[in-house]
Amino acid sequence: MPSRLIMRLVDKKSEITTSVPEPFLGPVFRPGVEPVIATGFNYRREEIDLHGVKKHGAIDMDVSRGTEILAAADGYYIATYGEKLMRNDDGSPRKLDMEQAHKANPHNKDLNPPEGEGPWDVYFGSFVVQGWHGNGRYTQYVHVDWVNPKIPYYRPQEVRDEEGNKTGDLKFSEMLRATVDEYRSIAVYIKAGEVIAVTGMTGCGWGKRCYDFAKFDSGKRPDFRDVNYTYYTEPHLHFVVTGRRAPYNRNARAFDPFGIYRQVNDGYPESRSEWSVKQKAAKHSPLWL
Ligand SMILES: [Zn+2]
Repeated sequence: MPSRLIMRLVDKKSEITTSVPEPFLGPVFRPGVEPVIATGFNYRREEIDLHGVKKHGAIDMDVSRGTEILAAADGYYIATYGEKLMRNDDGSPRKLDMEQAHKANPHNKDLNPPEGEGPWDVYFGSFVVQGWHGNGRYTQYVHVDWVNPKIPYYRPQEVRDEEGNKTGDLKFSEMLRATVDEYRSIAVYIKAGEVIAVTGMTGCGWGKRCYDFAKFDSGKRPDFRDVNYTYYTEPHLHFVVTGRRAPYNRNARAFDPFGIYRQVNDGYPESRSEWSVKQKAAKHSPLWL
């Protein structure tokens, strides 16, 4: 009889490993676009160091800026924006460590701040599209430059500190977490395969923000296609698939959309180093795309 602790661990593990490749998903790029998986659905030391996030609950697919993104499934879609300055534990701005950025994604080698300048502040966030597909399933398309104008855009919320002063950070609109009943009325129905956005690297920059308050604060829909913003990882689609118990549970649980990283029968990775081996292997795995 396993101890209580082991039982709990097992429960937790089975909870995060029971997903199968999501059958409802279609291609997110047109035929002929061949993305490289830069970061898998897993934990990476480099990601943790760079962003302070513990888990990468998404697949990063490197493609050039401006690549059309297709709705992966029929559903109700909305868009919003978020961007924040990354801070250290003492509240000081986190500075970009280019060596770490390069390690986090080996395709980044050409991305560097100008010689002799910096160190640069690090920002994290995105212009994001979200689809709801019923049965508690959501997809998110993150860091995009442009969103199809028929998809409603909900402006971000400005974050204030304890004294009520604006921090400059932007939170995604609460609409992203609307209950199902609310969501149906605020979103627009899109068929799988329709162009919903184009890829970019919004929100994930160094030096200065992508988001221009003067330009977009009125609620105007952002469009970054011609904007020369900085970024520290190669342009990619950060593709998220989540499950959320409808209608009232707002806590999302991310799934591996391709079933690459969490095949239970294939042996779930037990350590971070094993994760990284699996990730390397996955880079050479054929995608369904
Ligand atoms: Zn990502």
